[in-house]
Amino acid sequence: MSSGSQPIKITFRPGFTVARSLRSLEKALEEIQARELRLALVPTMGYLHEGHLSLVDVARQHADVVALSIFVNPLQFGEGEDLDRYPRDMERDVKLAMERGVGLVFAPPREEMYPGGEPVVTVDPGSLATRLCGQYRPGHFHGVVTVVAKLFGLLRPQVAVFGRKDYQQAVLIRRMVQDLNLPVEIQVGPLVREPDGLAMSSRNAYLSAQERAQAVGLHQALKAADAAFRQGEGRPEQLLDRARAVLDAHPLLRPQYLELVDPETLEPLEEAREGSVLAVAAHCGSTRLIDNLILGAARSEGGEG
Ligand code: AMP
Repeated sequence: MSSGSQPIKITFRPGFTVARSLRSLEKALEEIQARELRLALVPTMGYLHEGHLSLVDVARQHADVVALSIFVNPLQFGEGEDLDRYPRDMERDVKLAMERGVGLVFAPPREEMYPGGEPVVTVDPGSLATRLCGQYRPGHFHGVVTVVAKLFGLLRPQVAVFGRKDYQQAVLIRRMVQDLNLPVEIQVGPLVREPDGLAMSSRNAYLSAQERAQAVGLHQALKAADAAFRQGEGRPEQLLDRARAVLDAHPLLRPQYLELVDPETLEPLEEAREGSVLAVAAHCGSTRLIDNLILGAARSEGGEG
């Protein structure tokens, strides 16, 4: 694993740029703008996996050039969270991005993004950020929307792509763009899973073999509730009970929340509908995992199989 500041030892393809500074980013953007190319941005924290790379595929359908940012944003990590041990492998990430058709990797060190330390003026994510993960990660979404707004300002993309894996994040970013009239189109890509159903995540690298075997319980729990919904059960408590029973059968999972919510307001529902979102967060050992499922969604619609 290489640290963010080590040189990257790979052979670059023509038309592929890695910008580590705002200056080299500007230079790359000048060329893209001079050629009037449509730019899509895929923001990430790196340690890329197929979930991230599938967003590059979505981005390529909406733009001429895809930029992928790699930045482990300290603003979105709370006290005692995994900022310092978050997995990093810049060399591998750059290679994967290049192979997948990314044209520009923007991977700034912390000092480039926050030269004066924490920014004074930030974006307030409002009440949506108090729901679901926000209850357990105070300040997290404040950090997320602030860095995303900053990335939009730096790269000025026409399109930005986010994953459904982080459902609440995608809702908040759509809402920020709508409420602040930011000139960027938001696309949300499907949730990519491991063959056994575990949602792909850079944090899965933390799991021991035993934990990894039980982590799949999250998806199985969501699927159990979805199966009941498909059989006609519409009462949220009954659906959540089905999911809880599966979670309980996985003793290494310690759930934080399991909720059935409205897809836009993220408020708990009194009756389940097609399109309602079932969201869960749990610790598996010391690793915090999240997952979600859209009730009744078909695989072909980017939903669940
Ligand atoms: P991260 O690097 O975890 O901050 O994620 C960067 C982007 O990739 C976010 O928009 C995530 O929602 C998305 N992403 C992460 N994991 C997955 C996954 N398994 N499937 C789809 N998108 C994902």
